[in-house]
Amino acid sequence: MFMGDLDINLAYPFPAQTNDDREEGDAVIAKFEAWAKDHLDGDAIDKAQEIPPHVWKGIADLGLFGIKISKEYGGLGLSQTNYVRILGAVAKYCGSTAATLSAHQSIGVPQPLKLFGTEEQKKKWLPRIAKGELSAFALTEPGAGSDPASMVTEAVKQADGSWVINGEKLWCTNGTLADLYVVMARTTSEDGRKGITAFVVEGRSEGLEVVHRCRFLGIRAIENGLIRFRNVKVPAENVILGEGKGLKLALTTLNDGRLGIPAVAAFVSKDVLDFSASWAKSRAQWGKAVGSHEAGAQKLADIAGQTYAMETLALYGAALSDRHNVDIRMEAATAKMWNSERSWEVADTAFQLRGGRGFETEKSVDGRSEVGFPMERVLRDTRINRIVEGTTDIMHLFIAREALDGHLRNAGGLFKKGASIWDKIKVVAKCALIYPKWYIGNLLGPVLGKFGNFDDSLSTHLDWAESNTRRLALTLFHQMLLRGPKLEMRQLILARLVDIGAELAVMALVASRLQTEKNRNDPKYVINHTIMEHFFKSRKLYVERLFDEVWNNADLEASAAAIVVMSLANKLPENSTSDLPAQERKFCSDYTSSRL
Ligand SMILES: Cc1cc2nc3c(=O)[nH]c(=O)nc-3n(C[C@H](O)[C@H](O)[C@H](O)COP(=O)(O)OP(=O)(O)OC[C@H]3O[C@@H](n4cnc5c(N)ncnc54)[C@H](O)[C@@H]3O)c2cc1C
Repeated sequence: MFMGDLDINLAYPFPAQTNDDREEGDAVIAKFEAWAKDHLDGDAIDKAQEIPPHVWKGIADLGLFGIKISKEYGGLGLSQTNYVRILGAVAKYCGSTAATLSAHQSIGVPQPLKLFGTEEQKKKWLPRIAKGELSAFALTEPGAGSDPASMVTEAVKQADGSWVINGEKLWCTNGTLADLYVVMARTTSEDGRKGITAFVVEGRSEGLEVVHRCRFLGIRAIENGLIRFRNVKVPAENVILGEGKGLKLALTTLNDGRLGIPAVAAFVSKDVLDFSASWAKSRAQWGKAVGSHEAGAQKLADIAGQTYAMETLALYGAALSDRHNVDIRMEAATAKMWNSERSWEVADTAFQLRGGRGFETEKSVDGRSEVGFPMERVLRDTRINRIVEGTTDIMHLFIAREALDGHLRNAGGLFKKGASIWDKIKVVAKCALIYPKWYIGNLLGPVLGKFGNFDDSLSTHLDWAESNTRRLALTLFHQMLLRGPKLEMRQLILARLVDIGAELAVMALVASRLQTEKNRNDPKYVINHTIMEHFFKSRKLYVERLFDEVWNNADLEASAAAIVVMSLANKLPENSTSDLPAQERKFCSDYTSSRL
């Protein structure tokens, strides 16, 4: 899309689960629901900040520790689509339990083993995990958050081929109880090459210590902590993928793993929507249902439209993952970024629509003999999704890197250090062959009627998305011409372009899903279509604002203000520096002199 090509065939017809696959998932969800309604009390778990023993046992007995683990290793052997549906069903009852299961199998030991484990490793660990042993993913450290490559935890190879790990891992979900960890640590190969290696570490290893259990605003019962490794011995066969390949393993694990959060976001929002619809209809003020006042109507429409779109993106990502042969980095990152942001907006909007009762706990509302809903808990639980598994800022950078990739492949040689004049002439000649045609193609666009097999209004939306995809490509190109390699430093401009790409992709997916519903004579089509007309119009207005802000914004003023504010900071943690990096000081003085 960032090169100007909206290829609807990638999304149309909208992928559907096969009947067999759906029935398999339905059966597990039905069993879970039958158990959960009497045993999984999200409110009590939130209050106690503990998952009680009967819940650990219940989810293990249902096989939920091994949803995606193949049957040959004792798991349920379900597809990614069923996995995210089950996570969504659990999240409706209890965010902490869903986060526990997700950390365990979206990123915990089963996922890297599934992707990269040898047969011996799978046979050794997967049956234990499928039976209910808990796993954790240990990447983050106190000094290494968004930038995991800066980790300091180290593993040193011993003469017998085993390894010894020393270091600390922070915010490791399930870490305070885990039976197995996947730990990323810095290593040096025999020929001196530095790298990061991934290890499976037994929870009962000597030297592994839970230093502190962390407590949070939401998902309060997760077993998350600061874990210390002091001379922890790990056998040679516990290395996954190979020495020096641990960062690749961690990032690839996160690619698929990131599909858990968008699903939880979408399914919890569906629950919020169901409740908000009843509330908006039944609560009357000034003689009218609050959903009939224009302000309330807009809130309800936003909640409904964004929820359908989130579900669309979550299901699309899962369906792509189930094909097993698609590079889903971009789709997973987009789904994680878009759904975590939208679900926060949905929770906040529903909170406002609910008025004072949104701020009151569910049990307290119940206690006054009204119908309660855990709005405040949903709001608290939802917030973390914008941070874990790559913050929204980092997802922007990650997607932007790919957005620029096409152009860097064509013209990157111009900016390569040490490139000769001859090399540069060759790059210019190549660009002269490619870009005039590409540019004119994006300017003029395809012949009309590209979306002729879509319903009238949907084809209009797709035409709009298509022409704005070309506008996006040209805007990106113009920004590259204007700023050259410095564009990489203009994070906010790139973030807007990434957000435009995400909005256009979501519109295309929603149009595809609606048309597919129509083709199947799905009775929900008419309702969904009406709801999504508001979505299309409001998101188009948002895209227009983003385009405008690419050229007209207060980004430099923000950078200057931040530098001044930071230079005044006086409450610094120990060992940190109050001196701004030279680059920022230069920016500040250049900026100030350019304004004087
Ligand atoms: C509840 C919870 C559960 C977690 N579970 C796990 C787990 O199971 N395993 C694990 O390994 N980790 C886990 N984490 C860690 C989580 O993944 C990190 O919090 C996250 O990656 C962000 O790192 P950080 O908090 O150190 O933020 P920082 O990296 O310090 O970032 C602070 C802020 O700066 C922004 N920022 C950072 N770098 C840039 C940049 N280059 N450009 C622009 N903005 C930037 C960030 O977006 C953020 O807003 C968990 C964290 C929490 C709170």
